[in-house]
Amino acid sequence: MKPDQLIRPEILALSAYHVADAAGMVKLDAMENPYRLPDGLRGELGALLGDAAINRYPDPQAPGVQRALRAAFGIAPEYDILLGNGSDELIQILAMALARPGATLLAVEPSFVMYRMIAGFAGMRYVGVPLKADFTLDEAAVLEAVEREEPALTFLAYPNNPTGNAFDRAAVERIIAASPGLVVVDEAYHAFAGGLSFLDALARFDNLLLMRTVSKLGLAGLRLGYLVGKPAWIGEFDKVRLPYNVNVLTQVAARYALSHVDVLEAQAATLVGERGSLFQALSALAGVEVFESRANFILFRVSDAPRVFAGLKARGVLIKNLHGGHPLLNHCLRVTVGAPEENEAFLTALADELDH
Ligand SMILES: *Cc1c(COP(=O)(O)O)cnc(C)c1O
Repeated sequence: MKPDQLIRPEILALSAYHVADAAGMVKLDAMENPYRLPDGLRGELGALLGDAAINRYPDPQAPGVQRALRAAFGIAPEYDILLGNGSDELIQILAMALARPGATLLAVEPSFVMYRMIAGFAGMRYVGVPLKADFTLDEAAVLEAVEREEPALTFLAYPNNPTGNAFDRAAVERIIAASPGLVVVDEAYHAFAGGLSFLDALARFDNLLLMRTVSKLGLAGLRLGYLVGKPAWIGEFDKVRLPYNVNVLTQVAARYALSHVDVLEAQAATLVGERGSLFQALSALAGVEVFESRANFILFRVSDAPRVFAGLKARGVLIKNLHGGHPLLNHCLRVTVGAPEENEAFLTALADELDH
């Protein structure tokens, strides 16, 4: 018996999610916050983690984390929260619960690749609707696809990854209103988006859910995402969640870090400032087309992305090469906004590489 006789063909056809080796590199490929917690807070966190009862299973509902999220982000009591081991797991929970035979998951493209991958894992049909060439939403095409495909589940990242822009809000609302299924607005980059959010739209749409993560805010290592919505929906998805998906150490660390969310938000504000400087510096380089970003990364296009990517890597700077991922991303690269010295290292290496 060989794997290809037993494993589902759509799994055999996949290649595993690739994470580049970043040892010793200036790491600007994964939208991580470059800043750690300040020393004093790290000491306190260490003491709390030392006290954590790792001999016990975690509380499956993690009520302390839920309270901390509500307090930090102003989530009203009329909504329920579903916690995930990263928002990746929430996407998986949603897809598993909605994967009736023939059910469709719709997303725009290019967007977060896990929507498509997880649709495959869960056995959902996947439909991708291209953005316009400037990465704005093709509202007419999405509305037409919604009518034709009747998706059970639609994902819209707001701001979008890997393009960095936030779609037109009114257009997104029209898509939600026209959708026969659930629409999940994925606000992974909320901390950098200057207050843009669909949190206040939850009241007006019964088929809307809001998904966020603490990853991009500075807690990527914890693996904690959250889904906010009306109790009737969250209650169903909670049945699919594995009981102990958020571990004891993550619960302790998340509660502590969220009680200091002002520190994380100040770091995010610093990064938004750095994003502005990086955008200007990139715009000043000949041969670089830069796209506006509301997130903690910047998308840009060069004449030969694979060569520039490899050149940067050889100079010790790791970014993300998007060339080949989608036709609209031809010769595009994505750089995470880092600390000033990291952004400097990136810009120096890029200027060098473009000179060659
Ligand atoms: C990074 C990212 C996520 C995944 O976040 P995790 O909580 O770390 O799993 C989800 N959606 C988008 C759009 C992202 O860019």
